[in-house]
Amino acid sequence: MITENAPETAATKLSRVDEPTLNTEYAVMEHFYTIQGEGAHTGSAAYFIRLAGCDVGCSWCDVKESWDADSHPRLTVRRMLEALLETPASIVVITGGEPLLQDLDALTRALQLVGKQVHIETSGSSHLSGSLDWVTLSPKRFKPPIEEIYPYVDELKVVVLRKKDLQWAVEHAAKCPSRTQLLLQPEWDSPNAIPLIVDFVKEHPEWSISLQTHKYLGVP
Ligand code: SF4
Repeated sequence: MITENAPETAATKLSRVDEPTLNTEYAVMEHFYTIQGEGAHTGSAAYFIRLAGCDVGCSWCDVKESWDADSHPRLTVRRMLEALLETPASIVVITGGEPLLQDLDALTRALQLVGKQVHIETSGSSHLSGSLDWVTLSPKRFKPPIEEIYPYVDELKVVVLRKKDLQWAVEHAAKCPSRTQLLLQPEWDSPNAIPLIVDFVKEHPEWSISLQTHKYLGVP
C-alpha cells in the first residue's frame, strides 16, 4: 500500500524555532508576498521583508519612508513567520532601508529553520550578519560598502545614473569573487542611463542588464 506523508503544518515548522528567536523583534516597514522584480532572480515568487531604517541617504531613493526606523512598528520573528507560512514562498528577500543596520542572526536562522532560502539586498555599508543563501550587493556612493562584505557577494547590482557610475561598478566588481553575477540597472528616472548601459554591456559581456520589471508590470 502506498502511503503519502501529510504536509507539514505551519505550527510544526514554527516548533523548530526556539522561543527567544521567535520573540526577537525587528523594525519592519512592510512584509508581503510578491514577485522579485530585479536582478538575478527576476520573475521568481518571493516573500519580501522590508526592514526599517537607513543611514545611506541616496538622493534618488524610492523608499525614503523606510529611513526612520522609529516611525515603523517592531515585529517579532514569530509574527513575520506566521504570515510567511500562509504563503507557498520558498525564497525570502530581506531588504530595506538598509537591512544590515539590524542584526540579522535571529531572523535568518528562523527563516532557514522553516525551510526558506534567505536572500538579502544591501548597500554593504554596515557589518554583515545573518545566515544568508544569496547576497546582493548594491553599492551606494553616499555610504560605500565596507570591505568585509565582498567575499560573500553572489550578485553585484549597480544602479547607473550617469557614465561615471560604470567605472564605479567596475571598481566594485574587481573586489568580488569570480562567481559573482555582475548587473547594471538604470535608475528609474534616468532614461539617459539606458544607452550607456547597453553600449557598456555589449563591450563587456561579463556584465548583464537588470531592469525594475515590477515597475513595468505594476506589481507592488
Ligand atoms: S540604501 Fe536603499 S533604502 Fe537606503 S537611501 Fe539608498 S536606495 Fe534608499
